[in-house]
Amino acid sequence: MEKTIFKNSTRGKRGIKFSGPGLDEKPLEELLPANCLRKDNVNLPELTEPDVVRYFTNLSRQNFSVDTVFYPLGSCTMKYNPKINEQMSALPGFTGIHPEQPEQYSRGALELMNKLQNALAEITGMNRVSLQPAAGAHGEFAGMLIVKKYFENKGENRSKIIIPDSAHGTNPASAKMCGYDVVKVSSNSRGQVDVDALKDLLNNDVAAIMMTNPNTLGIFEENILEISKLAKEHGILLYYDGANLNAIMGITSPGLMGFDIVHVNLHKTFSAPHGGGGPGSGPVGVSEELSSYLPAPLVEFDGKEYYLDYNIRNSIGKVKPFYGNFGVLVKAYTYILMMGRDGLRKVSEDAVLNANYLKEKLKNDYLLTYDIPCMHEFVLSGDIQKEQGVNTVGIAKRLMDFDIHPPTVYFPLIVPESMMIEPTETETRETLDNFISVMKQIAGEIKENPAQVAQSPINSPVSKVDEVAAARKPILKY
Ligand SMILES: *Cc1c(COP(=O)(O)O)cnc(C)c1O
Repeated sequence: MEKTIFKNSTRGKRGIKFSGPGLDEKPLEELLPANCLRKDNVNLPELTEPDVVRYFTNLSRQNFSVDTVFYPLGSCTMKYNPKINEQMSALPGFTGIHPEQPEQYSRGALELMNKLQNALAEITGMNRVSLQPAAGAHGEFAGMLIVKKYFENKGENRSKIIIPDSAHGTNPASAKMCGYDVVKVSSNSRGQVDVDALKDLLNNDVAAIMMTNPNTLGIFEENILEISKLAKEHGILLYYDGANLNAIMGITSPGLMGFDIVHVNLHKTFSAPHGGGGPGSGPVGVSEELSSYLPAPLVEFDGKEYYLDYNIRNSIGKVKPFYGNFGVLVKAYTYILMMGRDGLRKVSEDAVLNANYLKEKLKNDYLLTYDIPCMHEFVLSGDIQKEQGVNTVGIAKRLMDFDIHPPTVYFPLIVPESMMIEPTETETRETLDNFISVMKQIAGEIKENPAQVAQSPINSPVSKVDEVAAARKPILKY
């Protein structure tokens, strides 16, 4: 275990020494009023520059990241983040710009934002897009505010949002935060929304249905057109959680499926870093009917110039200061330009191919609850292994000994001991084959000696932790 930087401190060590200012020195007491003076020593660590560099570099090497290991974290789309994204977002014209800068000095940034809005509108099949929300969950929140205002304007009092039992937790949370009651709809034996159960729930009290398609089992909702028709018949809006957009780009779109509101996670589908790697971005797109409800301002083009349009008639207002996480927008736009239309379609095709390859190779070693073709991810259950003595957490920990980031575990909630595996399109055949052989080896180890597997991880800087104690009595200082 790395010592803390405070434990490495030795009094008098310095990284940099400044030559004196060439002025008479005065004690602080003469320069500052007494109430502004610190009473205790601040006790900052004292180290040399190489000490500091080694300290942080070594810490960073204890981490798992997409740049170091295979990271099949389902639902999170941990694809490779092309380094050109970083170079483009670091261009001085982008980093030196201030959000308060007058429009006439920001036209380049506005052009980029306008073109990204348009690209996302085309990819999602929506009419208009706002780049403001800072994450997927924030996009959901903006979407729910739009639902609310739309029905208020229509003079309709609808209090419910229907959400499948396989949904990501942010969906009910966002609906609830906007004052809605959440109604759960169950899944059928094919891992999809049970249309008959849904029919029973539809009435004029329902404002929207929130869906993810492909859903969080990685399964495409075959009845989506029937569902959107039913929703329309009852005047209900359809919300699309775009976290799984990586499965369908250029093949179909939420617009074609009949959705009215969509959020996109730029940090998932469009290759901006996430998970400790940087801020997110969750643009929200809407159909023509809802286009006057988006957060203001939008970035428009009048044929001559790009400008900020604050005149959004029914706007829910701002959901974030300024215009969104601009650096992330640059990265996503770079990615879209690099891939192009055909490239984005190929991304989705390869993501689906990689997931199906893993699924077919692993389904005899682990329980595959829904044995039908998957999209960009699939869910295995560790139920067999649990009976043999090692649960899904144990499998996840053992994977770390092989330098593989565990898949998403215990989500979605409808599969017991679930492992949600999303390889993404950027992984090679060799990496996938290595994962397959490691997963098979672990299944074999559990059969033979479960007690030993339960000791994992044995190669990581921190071995198996007592999770209850870690949560209840965290050691925050030592
Ligand atoms: C990631 C994710 C979200 C939330 O997105 P954030 O950008 O993390 O806020 C919502 N739904 C699904 C299915 C997700 O995978």
